[in-house]
Amino acid sequence: MNISRRALLAFTTAAAAAVASGLPALAQDKGTVGISMPTKSSARWIADGNSMVEQFTAAGYGTDLQYAEDDIPNQLAQIENMITKGVKVLVIAAIDGTTLSNALDNAKAAGITVIAYDRLIRDSGSVDYYATFDNFKVGVQQATSLVEGLKERFPDTKPWNVELFGGSPDDNNAFFFYNGAMSVLQPMIDSGDIVIPSGQMGMDVVGTLRWDGAVAQARMDNLLSANYGDKVLNGVLSPYDGLSIGILSSVKGVGYGSGDLKMPVVTGQDAEVPSVKSIIAGEQYSTIFKDTRNLAGVTVKMVDAILSGGTPEINDTTTYDNGVKVIPSYLLESQPVNVTNYEEILVGSGYYTADQLK
Ligand code: BGC
Repeated sequence: MNISRRALLAFTTAAAAAVASGLPALAQDKGTVGISMPTKSSARWIADGNSMVEQFTAAGYGTDLQYAEDDIPNQLAQIENMITKGVKVLVIAAIDGTTLSNALDNAKAAGITVIAYDRLIRDSGSVDYYATFDNFKVGVQQATSLVEGLKERFPDTKPWNVELFGGSPDDNNAFFFYNGAMSVLQPMIDSGDIVIPSGQMGMDVVGTLRWDGAVAQARMDNLLSANYGDKVLNGVLSPYDGLSIGILSSVKGVGYGSGDLKMPVVTGQDAEVPSVKSIIAGEQYSTIFKDTRNLAGVTVKMVDAILSGGTPEINDTTTYDNGVKVIPSYLLESQPVNVTNYEEILVGSGYYTADQLK
């Protein structure tokens, strides 16, 4: 065999081994980043994954992107697999922020950097950095928009009848969103401007496991039948578009949005296409836009700084205590979106095309 055939054979064998190991055959020189996302059932995580692959690739990294379909053992297995394959960095948006400790200790022992992406990973000393949005402020923006909507849609009604929904209790963000929202709503409840006819308050009561829209819809059905026989619902604090769609189905099912029963003001988060369309149609009132391209960008910069021996830029060193230590964080700003500004913010920024929203 001549040299070039031997070289070719060696290359082919190496490529085949890389494929068999699951690593991209043409991983770039800078090494591979393992990206573990929670689920494809929500478009935002698909956008996050795609943006990261695009931006990591442009920066010279290989990527191994996995989705766990909201199954905790599945996510754990995917992460363990990435560690075995020798990724240099793990970027993780956890399903349950408390279940990854052992795997992350193994990662640390193997010299792998761990970045919590969007959701804080709790109860682990092996998390290095956290890239996210200002989650308390997201909650403030949700409640502020709820109140704006109540004033606009029900100017002559007081007190306003409102129900509260929280996110998944195993997601640290859910508490930040709820607490941020309550910083606006609690004073209005105390002053009597807002009433919660069901009396259901607190994350232990209003949380929605796995951010499941069907669970929110069923709870809204129950709230309506048990508490609204002789009352009109004016608003719903919803922390995520997937829940908002379920809540809207429930209220429409008992006649809201037709005749003289106005649609209650329903908030959201993530600017997912079905919700933006619903806002345009006058059903959902608002959402909160978190530009996943920017979150991916911050994460890529963090990784690049760490792997080149530098220190990543962070802008918060106090807020996110994960139960073991405070994780140095970079917090991005979110933007409230409603029918008056969706074009400018979502289409103007190129996040969606006008056609996607038709
Ligand atoms: C994210 C939100 C998202 C929710 C449900 C949270 O951790 O921060 O943007 O709406 O999960 O996927």
